[in-house]
Amino acid sequence: MFIADLRSDTLTRPTPAMRQVMAQAEVGDDVFGEDPSVLALEAHTADLFQREAALFVASGTMANQIAIRLHTRPGDEALVGRHAHSILYETGGAAVLSGVTLREVGLNGIFTRQELESEILPLNIHHSVTRLVMVENTHNRAGGRVFPLEDLRAIRALTQTQQLALHMDGARIFNACLASGVEPAVYGALVDTLSCCLSKGLGAPVGSMLVGDREVMREARRIRKQLGGGLRQAGILAAAGEYALRHHVERLREDHTRALQLAQALQGLPGIGLERLPETNIVLFTFCQEERAAAWLVARMEQEGVRILAMNATTLRAVLHLDVTQEAVDGACLAFQKVLSPLASS
Ligand SMILES: *Cc1c(COP(=O)(O)O)cnc(C)c1O
Repeated sequence: MFIADLRSDTLTRPTPAMRQVMAQAEVGDDVFGEDPSVLALEAHTADLFQREAALFVASGTMANQIAIRLHTRPGDEALVGRHAHSILYETGGAAVLSGVTLREVGLNGIFTRQELESEILPLNIHHSVTRLVMVENTHNRAGGRVFPLEDLRAIRALTQTQQLALHMDGARIFNACLASGVEPAVYGALVDTLSCCLSKGLGAPVGSMLVGDREVMREARRIRKQLGGGLRQAGILAAAGEYALRHHVERLREDHTRALQLAQALQGLPGIGLERLPETNIVLFTFCQEERAAAWLVARMEQEGVRILAMNATTLRAVLHLDVTQEAVDGACLAFQKVLSPLASS
């Protein structure tokens, strides 16, 4: 019996209403700049973040890689939070596509101005030039944590005095906005470029956005073409993204509530470690009991109809999203209880 697939919020499938607008989308050749649905999505996104321009790209990875190229030259380095998406999950793209090294700052994905300042390299014949800082909001590997606004403001002040570019990997920026009460435009004003995913909890099948100044986005468009990301009648996809922005942002709150419910159900079960309750839609936890660890729990939960993801030998992730109903969360909580409770007496 299938209950829920909690491995990732990328698993969402377009809803019937979303498919309807996709089928009816007006399209043109977007490489010629003539796809009205793409242009509308770009204008809407730019407006949301109160920036001059936005670019529709194939994936969050492409958005980050374009941002790295925009802000650096070969031989430069970018500073990123520990376990950033760009360092763990983008196949070394910064090295290959931009000739840039990445270096981690801080202990858990989030970092402070002080932690950043101590890592900026002085201009010196020995060093790479520190040119770019990237913040991830929310932070995936830190368990969907929101980057605190006060830290962002302090980091921005520092990057400005040091003439460093600042990019926000906002794959889940709307989760951050709802959890923190900070408007998208406030985050938009703090960075040079910002990316966000339409294809995660928002439920669009494909696509991410990159926003920034008009001139910078013009160059981003050129880099996107070079990477093979110039799409033609992309309006079919853009229409899904536009629909997601209009109809699926507010409901992310439900995912946050359900993540908290799941975390509270896990807390105290045998072998489970939960360092902190989730702030958004990602429940990060550990499992280790005698010889049993993450792989064992993944396999047992699969038998109960609940799919979760092992991040390493003992760390696991359960992610809430559009396709996980309240009923499914209730079912998943019961399944965890059924699998783990008997371990107490063993
Ligand atoms: C998912 C994700 C991305 C981009 O992922 P794609 O699968 O390439 O769309 C970027 N950054 C973070 C933090 C993510 O979680």
